[in-house]
Amino acid sequence: MTELHTLTIAESRAALDAGEITSVELTEAFLKRIHAVEPQIKAFLTVTGELALEQAHAADSQRNGSPRSPLHGVPFAIKDVICTRDIPTTAGSRILEGFVPPYDATVTARLRAGGAVLLGKVNCDEFAMGSSNENSAYFPTYNPWDTDRVPGGSSGGSAAAVAALETPGSLGTETGGSVRQPSGLCGISGLKPTYGRVSRYGLIAFASSLDQIGPLAWTVADLALILQVIAGHDPLDGTSSAQPVPDYSAALTGDVRGLRVGVPREYFAEGLDADVERVVRTAIETLRDQGAELVDISLPHTRYAIPTYYIIAPAEASSNLARFDGVRYGPRLPGDGLWEQIERTRGELFGPEVRRRIMIGTYALSAGYYDAYYRRAQQVRTLISRDFEQAFTQVDVIATPTSPTIAFLLGQKTDDPLAMYLSDVYTVTANLAGLPGLSVPCGFSQQMPVGLQFIGKLLDEPTLLRVGDAYQRMTDWHKQRPKL
Ligand code: GLN
Repeated sequence: MTELHTLTIAESRAALDAGEITSVELTEAFLKRIHAVEPQIKAFLTVTGELALEQAHAADSQRNGSPRSPLHGVPFAIKDVICTRDIPTTAGSRILEGFVPPYDATVTARLRAGGAVLLGKVNCDEFAMGSSNENSAYFPTYNPWDTDRVPGGSSGGSAAAVAALETPGSLGTETGGSVRQPSGLCGISGLKPTYGRVSRYGLIAFASSLDQIGPLAWTVADLALILQVIAGHDPLDGTSSAQPVPDYSAALTGDVRGLRVGVPREYFAEGLDADVERVVRTAIETLRDQGAELVDISLPHTRYAIPTYYIIAPAEASSNLARFDGVRYGPRLPGDGLWEQIERTRGELFGPEVRRRIMIGTYALSAGYYDAYYRRAQQVRTLISRDFEQAFTQVDVIATPTSPTIAFLLGQKTDDPLAMYLSDVYTVTANLAGLPGLSVPCGFSQQMPVGLQFIGKLLDEPTLLRVGDAYQRMTDWHKQRPKL
């Protein structure tokens, strides 16, 4: 019998439904695996072993009849910026150390209601600000393919936990690439759904006009199963879309004949590692072999995406993070009077990158600079969206590298914030335009995984998942596992 921790979600689903395994057996296998590899990987901030076994028992006892959801009895991990009732939620920050939310985020509630088994909360860059997981206030997470390298970020724990076979699936979040980039660097699949497709109620906000929750797993077929459970309108999130949720698994026909795939020249330019480019171009050719049509396109405002993102995201963060003052949430440092308490709490318990963003954002929003920075950035954001609207009159989906390089070494970019920011150069665009984006593993460079990104039209997750799944039917990069 295969070791249970090597099963994908779809494989677990089939084995559970056939009565070949129980959720308790499956959960025990993953808890054992977590115990074995965590010292090397450090993906988890909290392991909820007891709760997991309780939920697994409950799932097993409710198993007669059809499962309540595709994740019924399936183990799962959640990024620590998503609220979980009665389970610590830190956002990777000291300022929320020991914070225990009194309620579940909507995605958490949907997973619980669907009978998923929570293995624990996974590490991330503080308040999801970062691309390497090195900004976690607790400890860095290590890339399972090479533990001298970063897993990417900010959902680095979500990606590393899947890649290390500690969980078959996880939830991450994106503001500028934080699901796709670590998925690419860890050799797994990850989806950022359309802005508004998944409720963000109970997600600790970073930049509200960009934030979105998304799934990570080995296969696109598994992403479709997870998305089915978490997507849909939520009256508690005013930005959530009222559009009906399609059957994502039904969209996976394996057929991409006639599909027009745009290849934007600006994503294959300066800064892209030559070997990564070779791997990605070869991958895109596979789609042509399957009957897709490749179309050379231009997204001319791409080069403004990083500067635009690094005005808008910090501006919104500076406002969202104002609520962390030591009065309502988390620890409070002593001081002489209220202001000194707040000053000390915020000054000492926010990490350096978070403080940098709050300062950039406060500056960009201050009177006299608002027009020069924030308003200007919003205008450029519109131009970036229009690039995509224009492109989608010619193509159905866009294919690009997920990141310009393979996973970098720990410490390599920590002293150079700009170099760190540039690792998101191909992913922030979809967040600025609100579009769905998918990363799938497409090969290796220097024995490290390379990600292939697809960007789709608004709410067109079905096409995006179809092309990613079709690619996986033709290739076996998603079947490669790190040696641990
Ligand atoms: N790395 C980007 C940042 O630091 C994106 C993070 C994210 O998507 N949460 O802001």
